[in-house]
Amino acid sequence: MRFVFFGPPGAGKGTMAVEASSEFSLPHVSTGDLFRSAIRKRTPLGLYVKTIIDAGSLVPDQATIDLVKERLAQPDARSGWLLDGFPRTIGQAQALSDFCPENWVIDLQVSDPVLISRLSGRRMCSGCSHSYHMVFKQPKIDGVCDACGSPLYIRDDDREASVRNRLLEYRSLTEPLVDYYREKGNLVMVNGEGDPKAVWASLKQIMLDLHALKH
Ligand code: ADP
Ligand code: ADP
Ligand code: ZN
Repeated sequence: MRFVFFGPPGAGKGTMAVEASSEFSLPHVSTGDLFRSAIRKRTPLGLYVKTIIDAGSLVPDQATIDLVKERLAQPDARSGWLLDGFPRTIGQAQALSDFCPENWVIDLQVSDPVLISRLSGRRMCSGCSHSYHMVFKQPKIDGVCDACGSPLYIRDDDREASVRNRLLEYRSLTEPLVDYYREKGNLVMVNGEGDPKAVWASLKQIMLDLHALKH
């Protein structure tokens, strides 16, 4: 199974990828998580991307493509993967099709007002890839991750100015991929609105149906 979780910031890519990863035992490869981990560890890549990410801009293609290529070459990704947040440009999509010709692309569709309310209440785990929401997905204990017990934090790029820029970047650089994949014939539109359990229930069925078809 090879799936790309596609959609604007706040669409629920990470939340759905965490569910799918546990359901289908596939690695969840999130470029955002990989970058945030590099920032925390203060690696050269982390130092390079921090100001770009905080401003809500996209990291240049080559650095992003190299990172994903290296991650997908690891043994746990041999029989499949869930990509979350990659590709985000036509250049990245072309690179992905070079090193992996076959995958499904799930476009999670969510309207702008809903995206903004999701991003403004997002709380991220500092220890794993789970995200929570102050209203829509509360942790059992305030400020603590249900899955790993680490403290939750507000992402620097979930502040208002950065959110606005990320939505603009999405419309101009990332959304054109919808047509690119529609032409390729591997795009599947999924309604990303509704509570997380309901979205996951319909997405899971769609993934099972697609898997039975091909890829
Ligand atoms: P993305 O990875 O696409 O940016 P996330 O999965 O991090 O999106 O979700 C963004 C925010 O919205 C998080 O706070 C998450 O808890 C919340 N969220 C995710 N899916 C839903 C949903 N179906 N309904 C309401 N809130 C959701
Ligand atoms: P979101 O969950 O809000 O969609 P991510 O966690 O996927 O955001 O990514 C956070 C930030 O990391 C992006 O705003 C961007 O700066 C950078 N980033 C992540 N993936 C990519 C990518 N494929 N290409 C360029 N930049 C990326
Ligand atoms: Zn956690």
